[in-house]
Amino acid sequence: MTAKISERLNISIAGVYHRDNVIAEIMRVDYPTLYAWWFPRQQREFVEPPDKVNQQCAQFKAWLHELEFSQTADCSECGQYCYRIHARPQFYCTGCQQGFNLLANTPLRKHYHMPLWSSYVDC
Ligand SMILES: [Zn+2]
Repeated sequence: MTAKISERLNISIAGVYHRDNVIAEIMRVDYPTLYAWWFPRQQREFVEPPDKVNQQCAQFKAWLHELEFSQTADCSECGQYCYRIHARPQFYCTGCQQGFNLLANTPLRKHYHMPLWSSYVDC
């Protein structure tokens, strides 16, 4: 970012840092709402997410993938192996003789266009 600004405005790297610090200080003192929004975004560029964050991100994506594509699931009532019966993650348990939906009790239960969810999360 600093190098890009330096190149674009034709000023030295040191000059960019100096202006950056001055502008950040003005925002921090006089425009706290703007600063609170801006500051974490500046940091983000230099900080790789910690392993724990990457791990949770991978788990979340795996869960979305499973919702979209898994053809089998274990019944939460009796543990029986069940087959998918719908494009939505709905399954039918022959043991309990009733259906269940993996989206039930999740905030996604009333959301549609499931094939877009993974792409949305990647944005
Ligand atoms: Zn069952």
